[in-house]
Amino acid sequence: MSERIPIAIQREAEKLRRQINEYNYRYYVLDDPSVSDAEYDCLFRRLHALEMAYPQLVVLDSPTQRVGAKPQKEFAEVTHAVPMLSLENAFDDTEVLAFDRRVRERLQTTQVIEYICEPKLDGLAVSLRYEKGILVQGATRGDGVSGENITENIRTIAAIPLHLRGDDYPHILEVRGEVYMPKQGFAALNQQAQQKGEKVFANPRNAAAGSLRQLDPRITAQRPLSIFCYGIGMTQQGSMPNKHSEILACLKKWGLRVNAEVVVVRGIQECLDYYKRMGNKREKLAYEIDGVVYKVNHLVEQEKLGFVSRAPRWAVAHKFPAQEVWTTIEAVEFQVGRTGALTPVARLQPVVVGGVTVSNATLHNMDEIQRKDIHVGDTVVVRRAGDVIPEVASVIKKQRHAHVKIITLPKYCPVCHSAVEHIIGEAVARCTGGLHCPAQRKEAIKHFAGRRALDVEGLGDKIIEQLVDSKLVSTVADLYHLTKDDLLQLERMADKSAQNVLDAIEKSKTTTLARFLYALGIREVGEATAKLLANHLGELTALYSATVAELQRIPDIGPVVAEHIVNFFADKRNRDVIDKLLKANVHWPKVKVSKHLPLAGKTFVLTGTLSSMSREEAKTKLEALGAKVAGSVSSKTSYVVVGSEAGSKLDKAKKLGIALLDEEVFLELLLAR
Ligand code: NAD
Repeated sequence: MSERIPIAIQREAEKLRRQINEYNYRYYVLDDPSVSDAEYDCLFRRLHALEMAYPQLVVLDSPTQRVGAKPQKEFAEVTHAVPMLSLENAFDDTEVLAFDRRVRERLQTTQVIEYICEPKLDGLAVSLRYEKGILVQGATRGDGVSGENITENIRTIAAIPLHLRGDDYPHILEVRGEVYMPKQGFAALNQQAQQKGEKVFANPRNAAAGSLRQLDPRITAQRPLSIFCYGIGMTQQGSMPNKHSEILACLKKWGLRVNAEVVVVRGIQECLDYYKRMGNKREKLAYEIDGVVYKVNHLVEQEKLGFVSRAPRWAVAHKFPAQEVWTTIEAVEFQVGRTGALTPVARLQPVVVGGVTVSNATLHNMDEIQRKDIHVGDTVVVRRAGDVIPEVASVIKKQRHAHVKIITLPKYCPVCHSAVEHIIGEAVARCTGGLHCPAQRKEAIKHFAGRRALDVEGLGDKIIEQLVDSKLVSTVADLYHLTKDDLLQLERMADKSAQNVLDAIEKSKTTTLARFLYALGIREVGEATAKLLANHLGELTALYSATVAELQRIPDIGPVVAEHIVNFFADKRNRDVIDKLLKANVHWPKVKVSKHLPLAGKTFVLTGTLSSMSREEAKTKLEALGAKVAGSVSSKTSYVVVGSEAGSKLDKAKKLGIALLDEEVFLELLLAR
């Protein structure tokens, strides 16, 4: 038969089988993967596709026909009475819809199916055997048919009951669940390992698996492990309900941990809605999930559907786009920021992370490069979670080749060639070129025109870069002397857009003192500090003569920022720019100096939605009373204002014992002042 399969295809399939089996061994047996999950999934799907196209290619030991890997010899072997299967994967909506279509075709129904949606926990599958309500055995999934006896290790996990509650459980009950390591526990474990110079785990899944499959249960006992139960295997003597959701309710009643995000839905569209909801929630969960699972809820239907070699036909895992992928660093360049800070940026072999193609990732600073031991040419893990900027999380040392290059800080600014200064003890290195450096100039102008500063709408980064490169603008004051002819010289600038930019520049002349101070880009003067300065001093000229000591009398202004302010105004070049701006009629209404600031020195954090005002308004009101409004809760927080649907900030505040104000009390506080 095999003559009909092109030889190249046969070779490819063979190679894929060999590769995947090797990766399986490293992943399942050693808990030490040598490629990323995304890459593994890609190879697996390719092999699966080849086998679909040429069914004769399927051999019994193909990874597509098997679950996991053989149990390790060091543990006693446990044969599962009911096999522990894997799950079929779906990577997009089309594949999920195809799954639903297959389910309905096999069940010969046109009715909507009742599904149960569950988070797909990223840990390690275990089977717990209870006899007469007592935990007698714990086993890993192994190759699905037999796993490893890890009873002693399982017993160390506090979340797993040694006795079931109640008395209506079956005489023998096998519970299936996922042992996982909560994100916080994982971070702490890796931090400890790093301090001790020990091996760090690639992700919470590997950490959970590595901890649970320890030969010494005392080590497992020290690891922060927990469990969520999501099904059952064999039962004897005793009846179970005929819906998966009701089985989970029973498990919960008997004291087993069941995930709180599980819901029953009708039809596949509601499954897709669940996927979106969980995708948004993913970051906030205390544990890692790598997707969601949809299962046909009625057991009668599950039985009719049955299973294929490695997965049930009645369930599918809908995976989230990978948040961590592996790629290589092709080069490292240094970007110069507004204050001259040099930021190393890795140019990457482009990869899709979290659903977005990424070709650059920040390396933060030289200390970070040293700490992570990053070289040009290294294979690295790139992580992009939520809206966070992609970063190089770690280096895969195993893949380091001999030609990698050390990353060195340039002696001269890559833009203006002035000397680079790296003060010992400071993380950041800076170009000493000041506003002579076109990069700093560009960044300073971008900052000045930004939404939170003078808000010159339509004056985007590209235009600013061209304006500086063509020498039409060298300081922010030059913006106010631009003519339409100047703008029309720029690329892709038509008459109408040029006029829009001119109008926006004109409009930006009316501003506030706080915005103006922020826009100047004084080092370490953010929006909050700019507002404090404006409210306390009332006049720009007051800053010209203020001393470090005087500035420090303003709450929340420390010695460093005070010194930056004094230095800024002492520099004649800066005062000249300000004079030009004022001459160009940049102006603001008189500021009422707030003599009494009842909330001075207090730090507030806002969380959730307030019904009476937007967060921005609440922030402005608090700041007007002298309070500082911070974005995250810490031990320095004085109060947390809690609106509806408050998230993780509330949890953190509770943990730290910070005073909480509900909306009513918050409004009273504002009124009373
Ligand atoms: P899987 O992780 O894709 O899905 C099946 C498993 O999901 C089950 O065994 C169970 O442990 C778990 N699960 C979590 N929540 C569940 C729930 N609510 N209900 C039911 N099951 C739930 O499959 P797998 O076979 O364990 O592993 C395959 C995946 O592992 C691959 O897709 C790949 O991403 C990764 N892998 C990576 C490498 C590597 O070298 N990087 C090697 C092998 C496997």
